[in-house]
Amino acid sequence: MKQQQAVVIVGAGPAGCSAARELARAGITGIICERGMPHKEKPCGDAYTPDAVAALHEWGLDADGLAALGGWRYQRVIIEGFGQRYEDGDATQVSGWVIRRAAVDQWLRDQIHDAFPIHYGVTVTQIRRCGDGFEVMTRSSSSGEPAAITCGAVILATGAANHLSRAWGIDGQPVLGASLSLYAQGAPPPGLEFRFAKDLQAGYAWVFPMRDQLNIGVCALKPTSAATLRARANVFAQAWQPHSGMTWRGGGHALWSGEGIVWHEPTGIVSCGDAAGLTDPHSAEGLTAAFRSGAAAGAAIAGFLADRRSAALADYSAWVKDFGTRHYQTLTAPLLLWRMWAGV
Ligand SMILES: Cc1cc2nc3c(=O)[nH]c(=O)nc-3n(C[C@H](O)[C@H](O)[C@H](O)COP(=O)(O)OP(=O)(O)OC[C@H]3O[C@@H](n4cnc5c(N)ncnc54)[C@H](O)[C@@H]3O)c2cc1C
Repeated sequence: MKQQQAVVIVGAGPAGCSAARELARAGITGIICERGMPHKEKPCGDAYTPDAVAALHEWGLDADGLAALGGWRYQRVIIEGFGQRYEDGDATQVSGWVIRRAAVDQWLRDQIHDAFPIHYGVTVTQIRRCGDGFEVMTRSSSSGEPAAITCGAVILATGAANHLSRAWGIDGQPVLGASLSLYAQGAPPPGLEFRFAKDLQAGYAWVFPMRDQLNIGVCALKPTSAATLRARANVFAQAWQPHSGMTWRGGGHALWSGEGIVWHEPTGIVSCGDAAGLTDPHSAEGLTAAFRSGAAAGAAIAGFLADRRSAALADYSAWVKDFGTRHYQTLTAPLLLWRMWAGV
């Protein structure tokens, strides 16, 4: 690995890949450090809202491309809870997709790999100021061997594992939630189904068919003990009579709190996606924000590197604040999910 880079992006999820794409377009080179390995499965929900699908279209993934990745367009949305029920079986109204996250993430990574090489199995442990730029401390995920890279700017796209953005005060001060999900064989539901779990208060359960499996999950939209979440998940899953595959995979949510003020450090660091606390606090949908903020972060760093003035970075912080404030308005939860997933 070259020890001097223009930009280091930490994390090769949708946010990091979107940032890399934008930088490559501006003719800026760099690398991505990704602690995982290629094709790694993620404990994420695999469901793309119409807004997230629009972002994939902008990457050049049309309906044929999404189907080639094993995806399918969901044709029915059922949202139920707190005495309300919304249902749409009209396929023309619904343009969201279900696609395995590992497949889409790898496709995104492969698109940018030539312009912005991804170093898999490399965990970034710390970032320090160094001269005009930064020293990025890394550790091999397999051997534990440490290394250091110097660079002119850093983009933090680490997902909900946000200790680096927190250390720099640019994590958006998120509310912490969590989800559990599993793949199982079982009786297929008619479409994408969300049910509100009253004992979780702020939280809900979902189920939808993948190609030959069910994706079942439960999420909490406020700090909740692992035991409570697991108990709720087990009760909900039983309703779908899963025959096998009862291995829960967990993940955190860095939910938008509205409390964050800055998402940049004036000498050349920005955060984006979950690392910036940009997950929807009412639904835990985070892919749209990851795509949009990743691209905006890449453009901001390109602007910063052009003149080394921090105006482009301050503009990025203003953009994030505006994005969260506009998108995460308060609606009753069932209605919000209905609008989001049915795209109405
Ligand atoms: C169970 C669950 C279900 C979900 N379901 C949905 C859904 O159906 N639809 C939806 O829109 N959203 C869903 N979300 C939220 C969505 O997954 C996230 O909002 C989205 O993945 C954020 O993208 P990102 O690029 O910011 O982060 P991520 O996709 O998490 O990518 C971050 C990357 O950074 C890497 N990384 C982390 N730390 C380091 C480090 N120190 N060094 C190097 N690499 C590092 C990680 O390995 C990872 O590949 C779900 C989340 C969970 C937990």
